[in-house]
Amino acid sequence: MPESNIGKYEAVLTIGTVAQKLGVAVQTVRMYENEGLVLPHKTNSGRRLYSMHDLERLRCIREMIVDHGMNISGIKRMFSLIPCWDYMGGVDDDCLSCPVYSEAIGPCWNVRDVGEKCIRATCRECDVYRLDVSCHTIKNIVFGRVAEGKIDKHKSLLKTGEEKSL
Ligand code: SF4
Repeated sequence: MPESNIGKYEAVLTIGTVAQKLGVAVQTVRMYENEGLVLPHKTNSGRRLYSMHDLERLRCIREMIVDHGMNISGIKRMFSLIPCWDYMGGVDDDCLSCPVYSEAIGPCWNVRDVGEKCIRATCRECDVYRLDVSCHTIKNIVFGRVAEGKIDKHKSLLKTGEEKSL
């Protein structure tokens, strides 16, 4: 099937196809999965299937490694900056005790002991996982939304920082 006919989030690509498209070994793709950078769909028989969105995520990861000299830890930290709470109803008591909110330990879809409201979320179908995150968009995702006034708490934190620096 031509790529253009495939729905962006449809899990149809095998790990072999993904590896071939990226020009890497299958083990490399599996390693990215083990590191929690990407979440392939798993069939009942345990077969992994990837979507075009997963493929784009992996292309971005390859770009960060090959062209920008980042390592896996750096990429995890970069993904950890995504303000997931903004997509999950805003900061609440769940978030205040959630490691994703207070630490930079990795993408929220890869963290255990997240807040109650997220613990039952199906991460592959979550708006946060489905964001088009890349080296080119991460800044907008982390700061652009703040500038749009969508994260009031962070907006006020920024303002406090600005005032302090005056
Ligand atoms: S993962 Fe944690 S910080 Fe993110 S929305 Fe869920 S509870 Fe809040």
